[in-house]
Amino acid sequence: MSEPIRIGVLTSGGDAPGMNAAVRAVVRSALAHGAVPYAVKEGWQGAVDGGERIVEMGWSDVSSILDRGGTIIGTARSKDFRERSGMLAAARNLLERGIDRIVVIGGDGSLTGAKVFRSEWPSLLAELVEKGEVEEARAQAHADLRIIGLVGTIDNDLVGTDTTIGTDTALHRIIDAIDQISSTAASHQRTFILEVMGRHCGYLPLMAAVASGCDYVLIPEMPPPPGWEEDMLEKLRIGREAGRRESLILVAEGAADQQGNRIDAQSIAQLLRERRGEDARVTILGHTQRGGTPSAYDRWMSTILGIAAVQEILSAAPDAEDHIIGIRHNRVARIPLVEAVKRTHAVADAIKEGRYDDAVAARGAGFSQTLRINEIMSNPPAADVVPEGPTRGKRIAILHAGGLAPGMNTAARAAVRLGIGRGYTMLGVDGGFPGLVSGDIRELSWAEVDAWAFEGGAKLGTHRAVPTIEELYSIGRAIETNGIDGLLVIGGYNAYLAAHLLATERKRYPAFRIPVVCVPASIDNNLPGTELSIGADSAVNNAVWALDRVKESAAASSRCFVAETMGRHCGYLALIAGIATGAEMVYLHERQPDLKRIAEDAVRMTASFSRGRHLFLVVRNEEASPEYNLDFMARAFEQEGGGLFDVRQQAIGHLQQGGKPSPFDRLLATRLVYYALKEMDEQVATGGDRASYIGFSSNYIGSHDLERMPEEVDEEFRRPKDQWWLAFEPIHQTVSLYGTPMTVPLPVIDA
Ligand code: ADP
Repeated sequence: MSEPIRIGVLTSGGDAPGMNAAVRAVVRSALAHGAVPYAVKEGWQGAVDGGERIVEMGWSDVSSILDRGGTIIGTARSKDFRERSGMLAAARNLLERGIDRIVVIGGDGSLTGAKVFRSEWPSLLAELVEKGEVEEARAQAHADLRIIGLVGTIDNDLVGTDTTIGTDTALHRIIDAIDQISSTAASHQRTFILEVMGRHCGYLPLMAAVASGCDYVLIPEMPPPPGWEEDMLEKLRIGREAGRRESLILVAEGAADQQGNRIDAQSIAQLLRERRGEDARVTILGHTQRGGTPSAYDRWMSTILGIAAVQEILSAAPDAEDHIIGIRHNRVARIPLVEAVKRTHAVADAIKEGRYDDAVAARGAGFSQTLRINEIMSNPPAADVVPEGPTRGKRIAILHAGGLAPGMNTAARAAVRLGIGRGYTMLGVDGGFPGLVSGDIRELSWAEVDAWAFEGGAKLGTHRAVPTIEELYSIGRAIETNGIDGLLVIGGYNAYLAAHLLATERKRYPAFRIPVVCVPASIDNNLPGTELSIGADSAVNNAVWALDRVKESAAASSRCFVAETMGRHCGYLALIAGIATGAEMVYLHERQPDLKRIAEDAVRMTASFSRGRHLFLVVRNEEASPEYNLDFMARAFEQEGGGLFDVRQQAIGHLQQGGKPSPFDRLLATRLVYYALKEMDEQVATGGDRASYIGFSSNYIGSHDLERMPEEVDEEFRRPKDQWWLAFEPIHQTVSLYGTPMTVPLPVIDA
C-alpha cells in the first residue's frame, strides 16, 4: 500500500481573524480526501523546532474554533527559518513525518519564506542525505515539496487578491469604533482623529472612510502635497458649514507627507489645537483591529479558501509554479505567488520613489475608484458651482421598495451625495411606491443625509406593496407634477416587480418614459443580475451572531438546535450562515429536502450523540420545505433520538433585518449606486428611458435590461434561476458532519 499524503498547515507572521476557519477547512478536507493533516505550530518556527510542534490533527481537534479570533495553532516570526541551518532543521523535521505538502497562511513575508524553502528543498535534502540525517530512499520519496499560500493579513496589502483573511473583520472593528465615536462626537460638535492600521497599505482607512462618511483620510499611497494642512482645515470648515455636527479624520499608521515626514494622529490634533483652538480627540485603535470574533465573511470565505488550498495541493503537478489561492471578483482564484509578492513590494517602492499614481494604480481599479468616490462623498459641493452638462438640474427621485435591508440608508445617502456631485437635484420618496402614489416627495440635501450611512432601517421608509393597476395613474401624475426625470429604485424583489410593471405600462402612461434604475437591496440575496445584494452580508452577520448565542446557550446539556434563517425560498442566508457557524446540517429549498433525507440525518445525528457529542446545529431556510417545516423537523429528530438528546427549535426571525449595515454592505451600496448613477447619466445624456437593474458578477459590473427579469428568475420561487453560491454546498458537506470529499471540484479561476 502506498503511503498516505501528508499535508502540513501553518499560520505565520501577524495573526488575522479567520485563520482558524482556514485551518479547520484544511484539516477536515484533507481528512475527507484520505490525506493526513499536520499542524505546524508557531509558524515556520514550529517546523524548525519539530517535536511537539508538528502534530497530526484529527477531525475534532478543529471543532468549535470558527468563532475564535487569532489562530489556535499559533503564529510567530521566525529568525531561525531565515537561516540555512533553520531551513535544514525544518526539512528534516518534515521529512521525518513524511510531510511534503504545506499550506501556508500568512502575509507576504511568510509566503516569501515558503517560496524560498521550496526552491531550497532539493539542496536541503541532498545535504541531509550527505550528513546521514535522512535516508536516501526517504529523500527520494519526498523529492518535491508542494506549497500553497493563503493570504492571512488584516491589511489587505497583497496585490493580486481582492481580499485577504482578516480584512473584513478588521473593517468591522474600525466601523464599530467609528460608529461609537460618531455618536459622542456629534453630541459635542467635536473633531475625532482615528489612527488605523496600514503601514504600507491604505485599504483599511480608505474603505472605512467611505463606509463611515469621514471628512479627511490620509493613506500611505497618497501622501499629501505641501500645504495639505490648509486643505484639511478648509475641508473641515466647509463640512461643518454644510451641516456636519462632527468631524472625523482617519489616518493610516504609515501615513506621511510627500517629504516623508510621518503624519500621526497626535500631530494632527496639535495642528487643530494651534490653528483652530480646537481640542480634537485622538483614538489609536491598535490591536483591537485584529482582535475579537471573526466576521461572517472571514469565517465562510476562509473555509472556502481552505478547501481550495487542499484541492490544489492534492492536484498540483510536482513542478507546478508556486501559487496562492485568493479572491478575484468574488471567485476563488489561483494567483502566481512570486508575481504577487513582487507587485506588492513594487507598491512600497513606488511610494518611496514618489510615484504615487503608480502606487494607487497598483492597488487595482476598485481602490482607485473608491478614492474618487470618497473625494466626492466627503466634499460638500460649493453652492455656486453646479456641474455643467446634461445632468444639470435634472430631478432624480429615490425610493425604497420591498423588505427592509440594512444598507438602504447607505445607498440613499450615496445616491444623494454622488447625484448632487453630478449636478442632479435629488428627491426622496417617503414610503415606497404607496408614497409615490400619494406624492410624498421632497428634496434631499447633502447635509440631511449626513448620518444615514451608519443607520439601520430605511429613513425614507420602505414598503412591500407593488402598485395596483388603479394606482398607476396617480404615479404618472406624481412623476409629472414633481418633474421627475429619473427614478432610482433601491430595494428587493417587489421593487423589481414594481419597476418592471412601470416599464411594461409605458405605452399607456407616457409619464413612465423616464429612466428607471433598480439597485439590489435585499437580505434574501435573491435578485437577478447580481451575485450579492445590499443587506445580505449584514443579515448573514446577524444570523451568525444569533447562532453563536444559540450554541453558547446549550453548553451544559446534550442538545440539538434546529434554527431557521430568513430568505424565503432562497437558501443563501441558511447556507452561508451554516458554513460560518459550523452547522452540522443545512437544509435549503433549492435541494428539496425529503423524508428520506430527514430520516437518514436523524440516524447520523443520533450516532453522533452516542459517540459523545453534546451540541448539534441544524440550519434550515424559512421555506426549505412547507410540509417538513421547522416544527416537524424538530419533532422528528427528537423522536428518532430516543431520549439521547433534546431538540430545540429557533426561528431567528427579524433580527436578521435589523441593525447597522456591515462594512461590506456599506461599500457595496456605495459602489452599486455609483454604477446606477452612471447608467442614469447615460440615459439622461441621450434622452433615453431604459429600465434596468444594477449588479455584479465575476466578469461584469453594471446594468442589465429590466426586460430580462422574467427570463432570469424562477417566478414561482422568486429567485434567480442560476445561483452561483450553490457551488458552496458541497463545501459544507466536506467540513461538516458528513465529511464527504468534494466530488465536483470547486471552480478555481486563473488570475
Ligand atoms: P507576514 O507573513 O505577516 O508578512 P513577516 O514578514 O514577519 O510576516 O514574515 C513571517 C515569517 O516568514 C518570518 O519571521 C520568517 O520566518 C519567514 N520569512 C519571511 N521572509 C523570509 C525569507 N526571505 N526567507 C525565509 N523566511 C522568511
